[in-house]
Amino acid sequence: MRALFNLSGTVLHTNLGRALLPDEAVQAVVSALTSPGNLEFDLETGGRGDRDSLVEDVLRELTGAEAVTVVNNNAAAVFLMLNALAQRKEVIVSRGELVEIGGAFRVPDIMQRAGAKLVEVGSTNRTHPADYANAISARSAMLMKVHCSNYAISGFTSSVDVATLAELARPHGIAVTVDLGSGTLLDLTQWGLPNETTVRETIRQGADLVTFSGDKLLGGPQCGIIVGRADLIARIKKNPLKRALRVGKLTLAALEPVLRLYLAPEFLAERLTTLRLLTRPQAQIREQAERLLPVLQSVLANRYTVSSEAMSSQIGSGALPVDQLPSYGLVLRADNAGGKRHGRALDKLEQALRQLPRPVIGRIANDALWLDCRCLEQQDEASFTAQLQDFSL
Ligand SMILES: *Cc1c(COP(=O)(O)O)cnc(C)c1O
Repeated sequence: MRALFNLSGTVLHTNLGRALLPDEAVQAVVSALTSPGNLEFDLETGGRGDRDSLVEDVLRELTGAEAVTVVNNNAAAVFLMLNALAQRKEVIVSRGELVEIGGAFRVPDIMQRAGAKLVEVGSTNRTHPADYANAISARSAMLMKVHCSNYAISGFTSSVDVATLAELARPHGIAVTVDLGSGTLLDLTQWGLPNETTVRETIRQGADLVTFSGDKLLGGPQCGIIVGRADLIARIKKNPLKRALRVGKLTLAALEPVLRLYLAPEFLAERLTTLRLLTRPQAQIREQAERLLPVLQSVLANRYTVSSEAMSSQIGSGALPVDQLPSYGLVLRADNAGGKRHGRALDKLEQALRQLPRPVIGRIANDALWLDCRCLEQQDEASFTAQLQDFSL
């Protein structure tokens, strides 16, 4: 695996490894790699411990949930939750929420593999409380909501909120679960980012269990987190698949310090790499693009025209798909070529940048190669320009 420069404009790029971790997490991973630790060892009693307890207290504090468990990724979290609580039973989901995430995670397929029977209700654009109510039967195990991570339904729409689902489910003693997908722990609007319902709000509205990824908006290592009612979490942890899907010590070592950063929100935008990248002011990115402009212009002279221009970054990883972050970067266009030749010249440039010792990944759109500078942090700028010195096409 090679380090590269992500100038694609997508901050949480699934194919490029999603969240980058802060130094606190790096130090903790180094320590976990090189020293024995209390992964499953209770330092109070000297007896066997539970690896989930390493992050249980901090996650309870951050989400208001009673209990937590951590598995390999959010797909595993959803799968395990369904298998543990809904095997041979029915799970009621709105037709507007049967999402497919890149890489073949589809709600209906996961449901089937987990042994649960999907009961679709409502229509693509509108689902009402009565749709859920009419579908509840003695075979129902849960009402499930799934975050529309990578699409938006707009226009003549309606969906049922978690609080209403909780009221519908309560008399029947069935669970309300929410797959939040990205899952944010704090209100992002305080940093000028789009609004996303937090895990805490979802629990407060009455969700019995909430699942979310560790490496999307949360900004931690790849993992899937399930928080919620203690009795349901206990059933999930007793399922033999929990052992098969559990996380390793490096993941837990990295996750714990990332979660602790959230306890001091006033420093979060500075310390949590993901949030720092998402909140970089456009003016700062612009200054950087303008510093880099002459470097690229001299390297590509007479063959490509390079300009610095405003552009839009995306959060990525199915978080807030329609929202764009104002950014800045370099736009590379081929000289003296039209039509097909232009396209070939751009492909050649894209390939050459991709074959640098530390590959530079941009994005081709509208007959240009776009290099969004949002994710090029100050400390990496010197190595970015250094390798361009001996760049040749
Ligand atoms: C991303 C996502 C998943 C899958 O999460 P991974 O951590 O990639 O396994 C599942 N559900 C939703 C709604 C998502 O957005």
